[in-house]
Order: sequence, then C-alpha cells, then structure tokens
Amino acid sequence: MSLQISETVQPGVPTGRVHWLVAMNRRNRSMAFVLLWPAMAAQMRGLEAVGPLAWTLLTLHLLLLPQLMYWRACRSAQPRETEVGHMLLDALCFGLWSGWLGHPLWITAATSVCITANLMAFRGPRGALQALGLYLAGAVLMTFGLGITPVLETDRIAALLSLLTLEVYLLGFAYGAYQRSMLLHRTRGELQQRLDQIAALQERLTEQARRDPLTGLHNRHFLTERVHELTHNGSGAGMSIGVMLVDIDHFKQVNDRHGHQAGDRVLQAVARLLVLAHEEGAEVVCRYGGEEFLLLLPDRGAARMRALAERLRGGVEALRIETGRDASDSSDAQIAVTLSIGWACGHGEPIERLIDRADRALYRAKQAGRNRVESALG
Ligand code: GH3
Ligand code: MG
Ligand code: MG
Repeated sequence: MSLQISETVQPGVPTGRVHWLVAMNRRNRSMAFVLLWPAMAAQMRGLEAVGPLAWTLLTLHLLLLPQLMYWRACRSAQPRETEVGHMLLDALCFGLWSGWLGHPLWITAATSVCITANLMAFRGPRGALQALGLYLAGAVLMTFGLGITPVLETDRIAALLSLLTLEVYLLGFAYGAYQRSMLLHRTRGELQQRLDQIAALQERLTEQARRDPLTGLHNRHFLTERVHELTHNGSGAGMSIGVMLVDIDHFKQVNDRHGHQAGDRVLQAVARLLVLAHEEGAEVVCRYGGEEFLLLLPDRGAARMRALAERLRGGVEALRIETGRDASDSSDAQIAVTLSIGWACGHGEPIERLIDRADRALYRAKQAGRNRVESALG
C-alpha cells in the first residue's frame, strides 16, 4: 500500500500522476464549458456589434483554455496551487463575459455559482470571497470600461443551456467529491489495518523481549519491569513479598558430561516444573541467569514458602531428563539434577534487598552441601 502524503512535487520532475484536483477540474470544465459555449452564443446572437473577435475569444476561452490550463497544471511543481490560480482566472473571465453580455441573469447565476462553489470547496470562505471579488471586478470593469448597459434578460435558449451547465458542473463536482470520499474511506481502512498489524507486531516484540527463548520463562528484563511496577505504582506497597532464588547444582558437570544440548534440555525441564509455582500465586517465575531462576511471590507465611520450595526441590530431584542421545551406556541416557534454593520474605522491604538476602541463603544452601532449601530467616 502506498499513500501519497505530499501534494507537491519537485520542480521539473515529472511524477506521471495527475493531481486529482487537476483531473477533476479538467473533466468538469470540459463538460460544462462545452455546454456554456452555445448558451453564451445564444445570448450573443441578440447583441449588436458582435464581431469575429468576440466569437474567436469565446471559442478560445471555452474550448481551448481548459485544455491549456490542464496542460499547464500537469507540468506545474505545485499542481494544486496552479489549479486554484486557474479557478481564480475563471472567475475573472466569466465576470468579464457577464459584464460584456450585459449581466444576463441565468448566465451570470450559473457561472458565478459554479466558480464560487468550486473555490469555496478548495480554499474555504477566503477562496469563495476571492472568486466573487474577481468575478465582480471583471463584470464592473466591462460595464464601466466599455460603458455597457446591463440588460439582465437572458435569451430563452441561453437560460436553458445555462441551467443545464449549472447542473452538469455541480453534478460533476459532486461526483468528484464522492470519488474522493470513497478513496479516503478505503485509505483509512487500509491505514487502520496497518496500524493494527503494527500494534500486534509491537506487542509480539515486547513479549519476545520479556521472554527467555530457551525456556519460555520470563527473563530478567521482565523481572526488572515488574519490580519497578510493584515499587513505583503502589501495587506492591505494604505487600508482603517472598523471593526464591533457585540454582541447579553442579550444572557445569551436566554440560561437561552430556553436552550443551542435554544441558539445555535440563534447563527446559526445570523451567517446566518451576512454572507450576504460578499456581501458588507467583507473580514472576523467571530465568535469572544461566542456570539460576527467580520466583517472586506473595508472602503467605514462612511455612508455606518453605513447603513450596521443598516441593520444587523434591520435584526436580525426582525428574529423569532424557539426554536425547542414543547412548550405548544407559547411565548416559537420562540425567538427574538437584536444586539449591534460597528464599527470603519481608513486609514492605525493597525487593532488591529481598533478592540479596535470598542470594545469601542460596549461598548457605550450597555451602551446606546443595540439594537443600535455606531461608534468610536463619
Ligand atoms: P553450583 O552447584 O555451584 O551452582 O555449580 P554449577 O556448575 O551449577 O555452577 P557454575 O556457575 O560453575 O556453572 C554454571 C554453568 O551453566 C556454566 C555454563 O556453561 C552453564 N550454562 C549457562 N547457561 C547455559 C545455557 O543456556 N545452556 C547450557 N547448556 N548451559 C548453560
Ligand atoms: Mg549451579
Ligand atoms: Mg549459578
């Protein structure tokens, strides 16, 4: 989908695309002016002293000028502005004709309404006033300059054709507006579709940025965001929060013995088990580092924290993870790992401090022989 944003083009650089206003005016002018020619000719028939010059000028204005205007607007660097200039020129020319013909009412009404309506649509009241001003200036110039007496009366055929011209011009104009609004409607729909796609993509990217691709758990970036939310928007104010730091024991040996891919399988299996802590109301279960995980959960008392930690530790201890290798030695086909867990909880205590305390508890669990749960309480 391409949207044309700018209506101007670089001078001298052909775009190959005609500005819609230029195209619309050409169509309207071509149709209406062709009808206006016999209307004005019918009016001129009744006038004395209509020489070949007048007929030539009328023909040039109504039949040739619209094509010249189109040609000029197509080549313009600012087609819209050029076209508005042409409309103002139309106003002046029809004012001159109206004055010269003695202000025949139907011709005057038809031409002035078309011209002012057109400029009102593209330049607002200012444009309409400019058009009216130029129309009047042309009419007054002719009347007083050549001393023409206003007759006001319109020849019957001229009146009929003027009405027809008015009708054709206004219908053409309205059709242009209709086409424009349909295009706008379509463009808006496409734009909305694009915006929806961008929003969905943005959401997916944001979610991806918060996830660890290996385990599918949230990552540390998400933890930081959540801690910030809990700390700064007040949702965690006064809340008792528990932190659990989980580390796989001797994980380096798993990698060394079974390979990195098997190590990845272990991380995924442990992650699948830890995620069950959400059922205990855990706010965050994230991969905190290489083989370390962090759980952030509402503190529902030391006994429940310890019980959950023991359940997770026992659950992982019972796991037998397939290495994925076709090992001849069956002892290499499955891996068993254990966890050391340190936890801490506190009321209204900064989460960063709780993490620090849980980390020290984890250290103690490691020191005490691993496959253990230790709390920061002692
Ligand atoms: P400890 O019991 O003291 O925690 O010992 P450990 O071996 O578990 O800890 P250590 O910090 O010595 O080693 C952690 C290892 O985890 C080292 C690193 O290669 C491995 N590791 C980190 N991220 C990944 C990963 O994404 N995939 C795999 N397969 N291994 C990883
Ligand atoms: Mg470890
Ligand atoms: Mg570690």
